[in-house]
Amino acid sequence: MATKTKAPEKVPQQEEAEKSPIAVEEAKREAEAAGRAKPGQRAEMSNLDIVRFYFDRAAERLKVPEDVRVVFWEPYREVTVQIPVKLSDNKVHVYSGYRIQHNGARGPYKGGIRFHPEVDIDEVRALASLMTWKTAVANVPFGGAKGGVNCPAEELERSELQAIARSFMDKVEKVLGPTRDIPAPDVNTNAQVMAWMMDEYGKLHGHTPAICTGKPIALEGSYGREQATGRGCVYMFREAAPQLGLTPSDTTFVVQGYGNVGSWAAKIMQQLGCRMIGASDAHGAIRNDAGIDADDLDTFIAKSGKLTEFAGAEEISPDDLLAIDCDVLIPAALGGMIHEHNADTIACKVIIEGANSPTTPAADAILHEKGVFVIPDVMANAGGVIASYFEWVQNLQHFRWTEREVNDKLGTIMRRSYRDVSARAKEEKISLRDAAYLVGIERVVEAARTRGYV
Ligand code: NAD
Repeated sequence: MATKTKAPEKVPQQEEAEKSPIAVEEAKREAEAAGRAKPGQRAEMSNLDIVRFYFDRAAERLKVPEDVRVVFWEPYREVTVQIPVKLSDNKVHVYSGYRIQHNGARGPYKGGIRFHPEVDIDEVRALASLMTWKTAVANVPFGGAKGGVNCPAEELERSELQAIARSFMDKVEKVLGPTRDIPAPDVNTNAQVMAWMMDEYGKLHGHTPAICTGKPIALEGSYGREQATGRGCVYMFREAAPQLGLTPSDTTFVVQGYGNVGSWAAKIMQQLGCRMIGASDAHGAIRNDAGIDADDLDTFIAKSGKLTEFAGAEEISPDDLLAIDCDVLIPAALGGMIHEHNADTIACKVIIEGANSPTTPAADAILHEKGVFVIPDVMANAGGVIASYFEWVQNLQHFRWTEREVNDKLGTIMRRSYRDVSARAKEEKISLRDAAYLVGIERVVEAARTRGYV
């Protein structure tokens, strides 16, 4: 079912970027030097290596002095906790929980909490650092943090997840708070998990809705937050489409990772008139060139749990999903899924990175060579943290905005961010990713300097 690799037409900005002193070959060599493939690893380098690579390249271009750079290589604070829970097998299972605060120069730390067996301290460090640059690119007044528990969330019962969520909050609450650090959902955590965490925090500190975002609407969650990361990806598409010559009614797209981000991006792309022709989740991948209804697929997964059993689409291998000839590919699963061994098979015109760190630097260089236009995670998936900022503001005032207000304000910030980064990319003849890192790093370094932190 794999389609042939094609070389899409290059957009003007990419052609300019090719003249950049940062040559593709050089990027590949640097990426190689930064980390080689390890057995069993999806990508040739870890998420931490990926974020450090992009940071270093931008810091070099900005001539950030080495002594200042060192400050951003490591997080400000790392908390590791033990989470023993008795599961339904009547045995105690011990998980590790992490909360890592990378940099708080621009405001309270902000970042999601992930429940996944592959969570480890380096991955959380990478995601925390990415949040520092992301909040700065979006220009919302937060620093960057991330959390995680290495539990097999998809196999656990609801009561077991609740026990882990409460235990995690009990153990990290001392470094959290509405003016210190505000968690949010990420992979395998959702509004319900945030509700348990808020409740646990409230037992110690009194009712404090602003302790986390992404909560249920019934508990001072914000309208539009659940959809916001996916919606933000679509705002990015709308900004890029005219320059790529794409009109929604003729646009086909593929989603890797049909979870919160992926399914909302798909449903909103479909509302615009675009057609989904492939999708995947942890169970496998499906394809139908005539179109897969995004709403029906979401409803089906909610009921049955298995994307691969969806009628009206044929099951394909996850590798073949990436090779589908389409206009837009939205990676919305885990990090490192697009790497040097599969980037060449990708046959889309534009990638909108819903996931964090889905693309390794070597893959990025290959995609660049092929003329694929990449809208990077650090700006493309900022919709979640922007709507989290709105939720936090509403919670601090115990006031509620309408969904329309949230979506409009989200659109304004996403568009501004795309235009800021795009202008910088054109000015310096570099990719959107490099430009986004330049914008983010400049803002964080300025805040850190002005505070007297560096
Ligand atoms: P989620 O748990 O709701 O969904 C993740 C999806 O990815 C699930 O459908 C899962 O089955 C699928 N998946 C897991 N492994 C896979 C694999 N090997 N191949 C294909 N699919 C696979 O999580 P989410 O909140 O949608 O987060 C998805 C990505 O978006 C993550 O990288 C996350 O860090 C990033 N992100 C999320 C938010 C947010 O607001 N939730 C914000 C910014 C970035």
